[in-house]
Amino acid sequence: MMIASNFKTNYTRATAEVFIKTVQAFLVQTHNEQEVRIFAPFTALNRFDEVKNLKVGVQNFYPVQNGSFTGEIGFEQLEEFGIESVLIGHSERRHILKESHALIAQKYDFAKARDAEIIYCVGEPAEVRMQGIDAVMSYLWEQFEGIDVHYEKLIIAYEPVWAIGTGLSAHLDDIKEVLERLREKLSKPLLYGGSVKVENIESILHVKACDGVLVGTASWNEEAFCEMIRIA
Ligand code: PEP
Repeated sequence: MMIASNFKTNYTRATAEVFIKTVQAFLVQTHNEQEVRIFAPFTALNRFDEVKNLKVGVQNFYPVQNGSFTGEIGFEQLEEFGIESVLIGHSERRHILKESHALIAQKYDFAKARDAEIIYCVGEPAEVRMQGIDAVMSYLWEQFEGIDVHYEKLIIAYEPVWAIGTGLSAHLDDIKEVLERLREKLSKPLLYGGSVKVENIESILHVKACDGVLVGTASWNEEAFCEMIRIA
């Protein structure tokens, strides 16, 4: 199972270090073999000790090695920290930061060319969900346009927009239906994200096509995050 934490715009360099070291110690002490990812802000990146199955990744980057893109972070700056895992297509970047699908696809190709692990996020807004499963699936397939779904290091995160940060997770039946439909066409690990917490992670991970979770809010406490890893 993959258990990933998305820090979003939280944690300083100091508090992120405490979090990461606590999780590292937990994995070592408990011989836990789950695949753990922590998507930290750029300002908290460091060369963290290597712990089997734990990778620190980034929530964003600009698809260049380096160059003149004021305020952006290119791959050269990530390689300096040994970053090998990136989030692409998160709904907050699509909707709040207005990232276009063209830019998302460009980032995808760039990360792929650099051999990075990609957690590619897709998800529908509430108005699409209200139209039923067929509308949801066509919306999701559009988010795969121009995306090489055969890339070896691709992991897909299904994150309904209306479930992110709202405390309102999707119903298990809906998660099951969407993940099964994705699985019919995609032979890649599938994560669910959207208000996952200690109280619901077990039932979500029991959904057959679910290979893990991407967690925001409920992971911002190292004890809770370790507990979710333990449950997994
Ligand atoms: C996320 O940011 O990817 C996410 C799923 O957030 P939350 O767990 O807070 O819904």
